[in-house]
Amino acid sequence: MKGCRFVTNSADETRELAGRLAERFQPGDVVALEGDLGAGKTTFSQGVAKGLGIEESIDSPTFTLIKEYGEGRLPFYHMDVYRLDSPDEELGWDEYFYGDGVTLVEWAERIQNWLPDRLIRVAIRHLESGGREITVLPPDECEERICRGGKA
Ligand code: ADP
Ligand code: MG
Repeated sequence: MKGCRFVTNSADETRELAGRLAERFQPGDVVALEGDLGAGKTTFSQGVAKGLGIEESIDSPTFTLIKEYGEGRLPFYHMDVYRLDSPDEELGWDEYFYGDGVTLVEWAERIQNWLPDRLIRVAIRHLESGGREITVLPPDECEERICRGGKA
């Protein structure tokens, strides 16, 4: 098995899937979200937040780049680095990536050089049907914990 793949047919289905995956996350997990504008990265992030027990509503931290939520099962750091001035900009990334929370990065490919090797990669792709294909690729040693044989 190399990761797991899902198809969702609505934003709510994406949130529910993300919420179920989030229940399996552990301190130090870093989720790198890839996908075009409108793919559903923020929608997925909303599901993760809910799955971690965060009640607050989540939108894209487009201008602040990083938002921290402390009230869930684990601290949750939500990043959207689309507007980062330069890929070299240092915003204290390691504090998040190697901390005790769960970090989720929208447009992760823009901070390639800062990302840890141990990444849960999530790619969201818009299907012609209007649905979304969501591919989850955890590090090998976490594959069983996150993918559970492909069942979400
Ligand atoms: P991104 O953060 O990748 O730019 P958003 O999550 O902000 O994307 O936007 C995704 C849009 O697509 C939302 O308006 C959402 O309601 C809609 N949508 C429709 N179907 C889905 C689906 N299956 N999964 C996620 N979003 C969906
Ligand atoms: Mg977004």
